[in-house]
Amino acid sequence: MPTAVCQVCGAMPAAPVTVRGHQGMVVIMKFLKREGLFCRTCALASFRDMQADTLVLGWWGALSVFITPITLLSNLGALSGIKRMPDPVAPGWRPPLDPGKPVFRRPAGVLALIPLCLLGLVMVAFPVLALLGLAVGPSDRDDSGASTPRRDYPTLTAGSCARNDETWPAQDLKPEPCDAAAAQYRVYAPANGVCEAGDYVPYLMYSKDDATYLCLRPLKR
Ligand SMILES: [Zn+2]
Repeated sequence: MPTAVCQVCGAMPAAPVTVRGHQGMVVIMKFLKREGLFCRTCALASFRDMQADTLVLGWWGALSVFITPITLLSNLGALSGIKRMPDPVAPGWRPPLDPGKPVFRRPAGVLALIPLCLLGLVMVAFPVLALLGLAVGPSDRDDSGASTPRRDYPTLTAGSCARNDETWPAQDLKPEPCDAAAAQYRVYAPANGVCEAGDYVPYLMYSKDDATYLCLRPLKR
């Protein structure tokens, strides 16, 4: 678009740019949008103003806590487009907007580090708590005896060998070196998802990801 001029200052070249802002006001909130043809300088100034304002005014509401980070992220997407724009070559009829300092060198950016850090903590804390819950969960159940403890399923891989310490169809499979006398079966991955007649199908839990079909072919002695 070589003929597009910045709608703020008239400089060329200009490109369509959209930056958004958000203001939370406890019960009401405000969605802001600045959209138009901007030169790189004016686009950068618009981005920095919107981003800095949103960083400070965005968080103040129950929904706004969620809307603000989305707004900030979408602006970062816009910023990467803005940064790819060439600098204006033809000056316009007015001076361009003043881009000022980068967002995090402004007081607004520094202030916003508080909610951003809190948000970061929450985002880190949830998965950590979830993982702790998973790690603690099964042993809790074992203590109460409410459910059977999870048996250990060793991982069988195609090409290796195994023995069954139970009698089929019960399974208590153990990996075994193929040249060992105790080895009874060779593990293979079925070509079309179906084991050949006479072969055994180990539980999925014996596969590496608990979800892969394997087959066991009795070793010929
Ligand atoms: Zn401009």
